[in-house]
Amino acid sequence: MDNTDALADYRARAIAWLAAHAPRYSGAARNGLNCDQDLALGRAWQGLKAAHGYAGITLPAVYGGAGGSELEKLAFNEEEMRYDLPLVYFSISLSNPLPIFLRYAPEDLRLKLGPPALRGEQIWCQMFSEPGAGSDLAALRTRAERDGEGWRISGQKVWTSWAQFADWGVIVVRTDPALPKHAGLTYFFIDMKAPGVTVRPIRRLGGEHDLNEVFLDNVRIPDNQRLGEVGSGFRVAIETLMIERYAVVDESGYAPTLEAMAQLAAGQRLAGRSALDNGEFRAALAQGLVERTGLRNIHRRALNAMVAGKEPGPEGSLRKLLLGRSRQRLAALAMDLQGPDALQLAPDARAGTHFTPAWLDPSLRIAGGTDEMLLNTLAERVLGLPQDYRPDKGRPFNQAKAESNR
Ligand SMILES: Cc1cc2nc3c(=O)[nH]c(=O)nc-3n(C[C@H](O)[C@H](O)[C@H](O)COP(=O)(O)OP(=O)(O)OC[C@H]3O[C@@H](n4cnc5c(N)ncnc54)[C@H](O)[C@@H]3O)c2cc1C
Repeated sequence: MDNTDALADYRARAIAWLAAHAPRYSGAARNGLNCDQDLALGRAWQGLKAAHGYAGITLPAVYGGAGGSELEKLAFNEEEMRYDLPLVYFSISLSNPLPIFLRYAPEDLRLKLGPPALRGEQIWCQMFSEPGAGSDLAALRTRAERDGEGWRISGQKVWTSWAQFADWGVIVVRTDPALPKHAGLTYFFIDMKAPGVTVRPIRRLGGEHDLNEVFLDNVRIPDNQRLGEVGSGFRVAIETLMIERYAVVDESGYAPTLEAMAQLAAGQRLAGRSALDNGEFRAALAQGLVERTGLRNIHRRALNAMVAGKEPGPEGSLRKLLLGRSRQRLAALAMDLQGPDALQLAPDARAGTHFTPAWLDPSLRIAGGTDEMLLNTLAERVLGLPQDYRPDKGRPFNQAKAESNR
């Protein structure tokens, strides 16, 4: 059996397993649940996956993972996304913080904290962004100072997904402000229930419950909660973000389908005729089909490259850019078709299946690199255009800050 046959076999088993189990945890099973109940369902689903070798597919079995390949993970995720499952609470936890923790933490802590996270019993969050540091992560100001054998952390993080449920969190902080901004950072993990950690929710337009501010007031941590060398925080942060080097964010599960769009149009009238007969609408729908077909092909090309043992190229940036834009553009069209009715948000409406929340939620266009930053990446790496002007490059962080405040 070659690589492709083995993968097809793996996918077939995953499809059968999902068909047998996923319906009880997805779609209608989630309707009417509040956030806590939906999370409880998500934990149960995660636990079931762990018991059947589908949690942490690429992570070592000794820490509760399945010890599988990147391609198996992609195949499983692709099939899993066809169901409307409560995966979102674990999306950050298991994609980035836990894998980086498993790379750098002392062995006893890996053995202790890996399995409960993979079973969904514990959640990890990722504290990178700050009020003055998002796209420019290295501008962050949260400080860690030596305190005997350990450290004390003070500052503020923002946009921290699922921090309100998190047991643990990875964090990048400034340990030496006299060094240039990228060099003075260090990476730790902290207990989110430790004294001095305060989590405050941020209300979002569409009513999602994911985002938070996190305040850190003299939070004491031992040195064995440092991940990587002192001063290597920026490198470890980039390594964290690169772990999901090619995430499956397909339109299935991410955006309402074009079929749903056509169905909606069939029930709406424009100038006395079915909206489906309207030339402008048909052109927009055709454009949507062209975009989605292109995205699917880009996705296939990346998968083929990975099957051949190559690294995917800039496909990830391209897909992320187009998927986010395409979802919002089609959702806006659907809302126009519905008129004022679109403004009524159904209680169980979700962005993957309903147009109004899909339009209200621009997450993919901001998180993990904004549209503009992706355009910068494509301009520099694909088109070979010159880099942005970086006036603070190489300067001590505390001097660059003082000069910019003048
Ligand atoms: C749903 C969601 C979940 C998130 N979860 C997390 C999380 O769990 N942990 C975490 O740490 N962070 C999280 N974030 C934060 C996210 O990483 C940041 O929002 C993102 O990096 C952008 O940073 P910013 O919001 O500070 O915007 P800024 O960086 O201030 O950007 C503001 C605007 O300026 C533009 N801009 C900035 N720099 C440039 C440039 N050089 N060239 C051109 N345009 C530029 C941007 O594109 C944007 O339009 C999340 C965000 C969202 C929306």
